[in-house]
Amino acid sequence: MATRATPTTPRTTSPGTSPSRTPGAPARALTPEIVVATALEIADREGLGAVTLARVARELGCHVTSLYTTHIDSIDDLHARMGLAAQSALAQRLWEAALGRSGADALRALADVYRDFGSAHPEQIRLLFAGAATTDPRVLEGARYLAEPIRATLRGFGLDDEQVRHAHRAFSAAVRGFSMAEAQGAYPTDADITFDQIVDLFVQALERGSWPRLPRVIPPNVEPDDEYFWSGVQRHQLLLQRCASCHTLRHPPVPMCGACHSLDWDTQEATGRGTVYSWVLSHHPSEPDAEARVVVLVELEEGVRFVANLVDADPDGVRNEMAVEVCFVELDGVLLPQFRAAAGNA
Ligand SMILES: [Zn+2]
Repeated sequence: MATRATPTTPRTTSPGTSPSRTPGAPARALTPEIVVATALEIADREGLGAVTLARVARELGCHVTSLYTTHIDSIDDLHARMGLAAQSALAQRLWEAALGRSGADALRALADVYRDFGSAHPEQIRLLFAGAATTDPRVLEGARYLAEPIRATLRGFGLDDEQVRHAHRAFSAAVRGFSMAEAQGAYPTDADITFDQIVDLFVQALERGSWPRLPRVIPPNVEPDDEYFWSGVQRHQLLLQRCASCHTLRHPPVPMCGACHSLDWDTQEATGRGTVYSWVLSHHPSEPDAEARVVVLVELEEGVRFVANLVDADPDGVRNEMAVEVCFVELDGVLLPQFRAAAGNA
């Protein structure tokens, strides 16, 4: 069983900047940090709903207008600053926990820190998510900094970027959800056992290398109109729709002939030979390291155009009008028609 790190007493303020002031003591210069720290203490004690500018001023023993000297001029502004402070406090603890650790050891340490923070400061965790849909660059930068120790640990298990994205969400959601329920007294007994089991589930999947991976190819959603096409692909045939009345060929599949408006059609097998009509080099949107793909618009011998990838191609050697031929390639269990340079092509 995993040994849980001894929880440290979470602090919302740096040592030496305690915001509390003895009534009657000389007033210290009011700073935004002191106001925010005081507001966080009120939120921790009494809930976020208790935090108002007047309440914070009262806690600080000053008049509410004094808060304006700190340029905190609205409750929304105060909440935003509290969110940033909470983000920074949790991030600091996560970075410290991850330091010098990796693998399961790091993941357990991160989970413990997250749990302790969430249990002690459920209102601050809520604040983190109050800004979840924001476009404020400070919040987004803070969110990236907060995520990095967890993401780095997940990458250490060999996950790719897409896996890290989802594993990070799953891990944070599990740990955060547990800690917030725990803060409400949901687990009066054996909470540590449950928590260790949650973290063990992650560790086991990650160590076994069995974290789910998104398929790179989304299987076709076969409809009655294109069922013929995908059945043909299964037989390594490239089938084109042909109007039963005027014999015009068409692709992609549509119910009606564009030339004579007939709804009757049959199919014709293409030779699979054609030429590149146009092409682009496509870079993966979220995997900058993934090899770029050559996407071609092929003009088939039959006069119909067809979009597919050009496989085994050096992008520098691709030219319009180069001769290509169809090939059938299985990607993640899905058989797809692709093209390659025709045999004898320079
Ligand atoms: Zn027709």
